[in-house]
Amino acid sequence: MAAAAPALKHWRTTLERVEKFVSPLYFTDCNLRGRLFGDSCPVAELSSFLTPERLPYEEAVQQDFRPAQVGDSFGPTWWTCWFRVELTIPEAWVGQEVHLRWESDGEGLVWRDGEPVQGLTKEGEKTSYILTDKLGEKDPRSLTLYVEVACNGLLGAGKGSMIAAPDPEKMFQVSRAELAVFHRDVYKLLVDLELLLGIAKGLGEDNQRSFQALYTANQMVNVCDPAQPETFPVAQALASKFFGQRGGESQHTIHAMGHCHIDTAWLWPFKETVRKCARSWVTVVQLMERNPEFIFACSQAQQLEWVRSYYPGLHARLQEFACRGQFVPVGGTWVEMDGNLPSGESMVRQFLQGQNFFRQEFGKMCSEFWLPDTFGYSAQLPQIMRSCGIKRFLTQKLSWNLVNSFPVLKTVAKNRDKGRTNHSAFLFGFGDGGGGPTQTMVDRLKRLCNTDGLPRVQLSSPERLFSALEGHSEQLCTWVGELFLELHNGTYTTHAQIKKGNRECERILHDVELLSSLALARSAQFLYPAALLQDLWRLLLLTQFHDVVTGSCIQLVAEEAICHYEDIRSHGNTLLSAAAAALCAGEPGPEGLLIVNTLPWKRTEVLALPRSGGAHSLALVTVPSMGFAPAPTPTSLQPLLPQQPVFVVQETDSSVTLDNGIIRVRLDPTGRLTSLVLVASGREAVAEGAIGNQFVLFDDVPLYWDAWDVMDYHLETRKPVLGQAGTLAVGTEGGVRGSAWFLLQISPNSRLSQEVVLDVGCPYVRFHTEVHWHEAHKFLKVEFPARVRSPQATYEVQFGHLQRPTHYNTSWDWARFEVWAHRWMDLSEHGFGLALLNDCKYGASVRGNVLSLSLLRAPKSPDATVDMGRHEFTYALMPHKGSFQDAGVIPAAYSLNFPLLALPAPGPAPAAAWSAFSVSSPAVVLETVKQAETSPQGRTLLLRLYEAHGSHTDCWLHTSLPVQEAVLCDLLERRDPTGPLLLRDNRLKLTFTPFQVQSLLLVLQPPPN
Ligand SMILES: [Zn+2]
Repeated sequence: MAAAAPALKHWRTTLERVEKFVSPLYFTDCNLRGRLFGDSCPVAELSSFLTPERLPYEEAVQQDFRPAQVGDSFGPTWWTCWFRVELTIPEAWVGQEVHLRWESDGEGLVWRDGEPVQGLTKEGEKTSYILTDKLGEKDPRSLTLYVEVACNGLLGAGKGSMIAAPDPEKMFQVSRAELAVFHRDVYKLLVDLELLLGIAKGLGEDNQRSFQALYTANQMVNVCDPAQPETFPVAQALASKFFGQRGGESQHTIHAMGHCHIDTAWLWPFKETVRKCARSWVTVVQLMERNPEFIFACSQAQQLEWVRSYYPGLHARLQEFACRGQFVPVGGTWVEMDGNLPSGESMVRQFLQGQNFFRQEFGKMCSEFWLPDTFGYSAQLPQIMRSCGIKRFLTQKLSWNLVNSFPVLKTVAKNRDKGRTNHSAFLFGFGDGGGGPTQTMVDRLKRLCNTDGLPRVQLSSPERLFSALEGHSEQLCTWVGELFLELHNGTYTTHAQIKKGNRECERILHDVELLSSLALARSAQFLYPAALLQDLWRLLLLTQFHDVVTGSCIQLVAEEAICHYEDIRSHGNTLLSAAAAALCAGEPGPEGLLIVNTLPWKRTEVLALPRSGGAHSLALVTVPSMGFAPAPTPTSLQPLLPQQPVFVVQETDSSVTLDNGIIRVRLDPTGRLTSLVLVASGREAVAEGAIGNQFVLFDDVPLYWDAWDVMDYHLETRKPVLGQAGTLAVGTEGGVRGSAWFLLQISPNSRLSQEVVLDVGCPYVRFHTEVHWHEAHKFLKVEFPARVRSPQATYEVQFGHLQRPTHYNTSWDWARFEVWAHRWMDLSEHGFGLALLNDCKYGASVRGNVLSLSLLRAPKSPDATVDMGRHEFTYALMPHKGSFQDAGVIPAAYSLNFPLLALPAPGPAPAAAWSAFSVSSPAVVLETVKQAETSPQGRTLLLRLYEAHGSHTDCWLHTSLPVQEAVLCDLLERRDPTGPLLLRDNRLKLTFTPFQVQSLLLVLQPPPN
C-alpha cells in the first residue's frame, strides 16, 4: 500500500494538513484526534455539596449531597463544591482502557477510597482520570469517587485580567463528567505527529532536518486511516525511524526535570496553596509510578509540611518516591523567599528551617538552592548558601506560561553559555496548581533521547545536571556582587504595612531570642521557648515568600500576613515579659522597670519611661551591651552634663532650629530642612541653595505589572509637595529632647504630619511621620540633596553593604534608578558624608547628590486596596565626618531599629547594670544570640557575628556568662572540625574576612542553682 509518489511539496499546505489531522477543533469527525476517545457514557449519578470552607475529606463526605447535572454552575469565588460521582462501567468495555473525563472551571481533586488520587485542572491539561488501564472481566464495574472542586482558577479569580483584584462573585461550571474508552494507540500517534510538527516549526524552513520531520509526518498521514487501527503500526514505524536517527557526539544535552512552581500564596490565599500542592503532587505520584525514569524536583519545605499534616497518606508516598530517587526535594529553604528584603538572619533561618525539615522528613539535606522566581539576588547569597551545605544554585525568571509549544529548542537557543558547557536545564510542568508535568510531556521528551538535529534530552535530576556543569566549571565565568533584577523595583515599596510587619517581627524575634538566652544562662528554672519560637519564625519565613513580603499578592493574602505579624508581636511581647521576669527573679533591688539593650554595644539614649497613671517621663539612660540596667527613678534622673541639652528656638518667621551640640537642624516654616550642620566642624550637609526633607509625588503607571513595577519614566513626572508657611510649631521644648512638628497636605485626599525630633547626645535627627494616604497610581518619596559628591552611594544589604552608582552613565547604571536597601544608605566623599536611616522602608535611590527614600505607592492590582489609609514610619538623617564606618552609621541604624526596652519587672528589678556580651571591634556585629538547635540540657547557645565594615578584622568576644566550651560552627550549627576555641578570662579571639558571617556554639556550665 505504498503511497503515490509525492507531488511537489509546499511547506505551508503540508504543515497545515498535518495540523488538521491532529486538530482538536477541526475535522474531528474524520481526523485522528477525533478517535482519541471511543465509546462514552454519562456517569450513573452526580450529586454535590457546596461549602464556603475547605473541609477535610472525612467531614465533607458526611454532608448532605443534592442531585447535580453537567452544565450546572457553582460558586462563588473561594467556595468549594464537593461532587459525589457514582460510576458504572459498561460490560462491553472489558479489555479496554477506561477514563473518567472531567472538565470544570475550578481546580479539581479526585478522591478514591478516602485518598486523593489525581488533580483535574483544565488549564493544566489534566481533564481525565484513568480508572483502569485494562478493564478485567472480574473487576468491579461500579464505584464511587468524590471530586473536590475549588471555586477558583489556576491563577485565582482576577476580574477581567489575570492580576486584577479577584472577582468575589465568580461562578464555575462543570462542563463534562463522563466515562469513556481511551485509545492508547491513537494517543501514541498523536504524540509522534505533534512532536514532528513542533520540530518542523521550531527548526524552520532554513533547516534540512525540519523538512525531514514534516515529510515524515505527511507520510504518516498518508498511510494512517483513523478508522482502521491496523494501519497505525506502519505510521508508527515511520515516526520511530525518524526519532531513531542518531545525533553526533557534540550534541547538546538537555536535562529535563519535572517541576511545578507553586507560589505559596499570590492570587489566592495560603490555604488554597495547601490544596494546590496536594492536587499537583498526587498527580506527580501517578506519573512517577507509570514512568520509573521520570524525576520530579520539589522545593519549599513549608509546602511539604502542609501536605504532611493535611494529607499524611500522600506524604508517605512522596517519602517512598524520594527513597527511589524519583521525588527530589530541592532548594533547602522554608519557602522560596524574596531575594532582596529579608534580613541576613532571616535568610539563614530560611535555610536552617528548610534543611532541618528536609533531613527529618526525607533523610537528607538539599544540595542546591532553588529560586526560579525572585525579584532579585542578594550579594550575600553565595556565602549563606555555602555555609548551609549548598554550592549549587538554580534560578530563572519564569514566565507563567511554563510550557511552550516546543520549548526544548528554545532552551538550546537561549543558553548563555554556548561553547562553555554543553549541558543545560529544562524544567517542565504546569505550575501554580496546574498539576505539574503531563504524561504527554514525558512521552515527548522520551522520544528525543537521541535524535539527529536536535539536542539530546535526558530525563534527569538536579544532581546529574550540576555534576555535568561542574565538569566544565573552569570554563564558566564569575559574577561578583549582586545580581540585580532590572524589573519589579516597585516591590521594595508596595504594601508598606507588610514591609513594616516584616522589619518589626525580625526585631521582635531577635530580642526574644537574646533575652531568653540571657534568662536561660542566669536562671535554672527558665525554660527556653524553643518550640514556640520555631513556630513564630516559621510564620515570619512564610510571609517572606516572593509574592507576599513584596506586596504583589491579593488583599486576602495581605490580611493573612498582617495577622501572622500580629501573632508574632503578641506572642513575642509575652515571651519578652517572661524572659524579663526570669532575669529579675531573686534580685534584691527596687521594684519597677528593667531597661534592656539588645544590641552588642553600650548605649546612652533618651527613653520614655512609663510612670504611674499611664504617664511617661523622658530619661537619659545608659545600658551596657546586650544587657540591662535598673531604671532611673524620677529623683535619680542622671544629670545631663557633660552632654549639652537640646535647645529649640523658633524664629519670628516661624522657622525652627534644634541643636544638641552635635548637630544643628534648621527647618523652614513648612517643615523642610534648610540646614543640617555638624556642629564640631561647622560643616553643612544640605546642598547649597537646596532644601531637604522635601516630599515629592510621581505618577506611577507601569506597563502591566502594577504592584510590581515602577518604570524609569516615573522620574519625569516629579512634583514637589509644597506646604503652607506657619504650620510649623515647637513640640517638645528641649532638655533631653527637642522637637518641632507640622502638617502637610500632599494632595486633596492625602495628608501627613511629621515630628522632627532631636535627642540629647544623639548623632541623628529623626522624622516621625504619619500619613493618611488615598491615591491612585502615585508614588511618594522624600528627598535630601546633600552637600556631598560621589559617583557611588552605599546601601545596607544582608550582613553588609554594597555600592551602586549615583549616575546614569551606562544602561547598567540607568537600570538601577530604583534600588533596595535595608536600614541605611549613605553618600560620602572624602572626610564627610550623609546617611539616611529608616525603620521600615526598603526602596531607595541616590541620583547625583540627592538621597531619596521611597515611602508609599498606590497600585491597584492585584490588590485594589493596597496602601490606602494610615501609615506610620520613621527615618533619620545622620551627617558625619570621616567614613560611615568610622562615624558609627551602622550602630546608629541598629539603634533606630532596636529601641531600648523598658520591661516591667513583676518583682524587684536588679539594682546593678549587667552585660552578657561585648565585642572589641566596631567592625564586628554580634547579630544573633539564641539557644542552639541541638542543645544538651538546653544549655548551649548559638552566637552569630558578622564583619560589617568590609575589612579584615581580628576581635575579642567577651562574655560574662559561665561558658564551658566555645566552638565555631556553620549556619546549620554543625560543629567546625577544628575543635574548641581558646577561651581565657572570659574572652575568645575571632578573625574575620570582609563581610564574613561566623557562628559560634557556647556550651554553658550547669546552672548556678
Ligand atoms: Zn513565583
